[in-house]
Amino acid sequence: MDIILLGPPGAGKGTQAHRLVEHHGMRQLSTGDMLRAAVKARTPVGIKAQAIMEKGELVSDDIVSELIDAELTAMGSATGAIFDGYPRTAAQAEMLDDILAKHGRKLDHVIELKVDEDALVERITGRFTCAECGEGYHDTFKLPAKEGVCDVCGATEFKRRPDDNEETVRHRMDVYRSETAPILPGYEKRGIVHRVDGMASIEDVTAALDDILV
Ligand code: AMP
Repeated sequence: MDIILLGPPGAGKGTQAHRLVEHHGMRQLSTGDMLRAAVKARTPVGIKAQAIMEKGELVSDDIVSELIDAELTAMGSATGAIFDGYPRTAAQAEMLDDILAKHGRKLDHVIELKVDEDALVERITGRFTCAECGEGYHDTFKLPAKEGVCDVCGATEFKRRPDDNEETVRHRMDVYRSETAPILPGYEKRGIVHRVDGMASIEDVTAALDDILV
């Protein structure tokens, strides 16, 4: 089963994708994570993408689609894919159709996480992760039980994304509204769109997704 998780930055796509990987043995394909890894490794793609990402602009459709194509080539056809943060433009949505057809796959569900934008700014600007295991935390909603120590792995280093500041977040939301939201009607015509309340608790959102995926 292949699905797209759609929603503005901070809607919980990454968090839910992690949980679907655990519950359903699917694979998370996050172009944001792939690009951050490329930036860290200083690959040619990473060097090109870094400044664009820091401004909250979109990296080129060709670059992200090639990343997705390469991941699908590397993974077996038996494993379901969760597209997280891709597609983000009409052109990417078309490219994804072609890529899936090439790999003999098809899209089963597009799930939109509906959220309140002002609340998202607080969600995003407060978030940080363990530098070691990637566990997610939040200044207001989820601090580690012991200050400065990761609950999961005990590491003491944490990191924040450079594009998680208020100005960039607001811009990323504008980009979502103008570039990404318009791809939904095309999927609606195919009858594969589901809407889930992304402001509900993490557990409730996961339960709603589990219901869709059964
Ligand atoms: P994300 O982790 O999904 O919020 O992505 C972080 C940043 O990576 C975005 O603000 C874009 O600059 C870039 N990015 C991630 N996915 C895409 C995509 N599908 N198309 C274009 N740019 C992307």
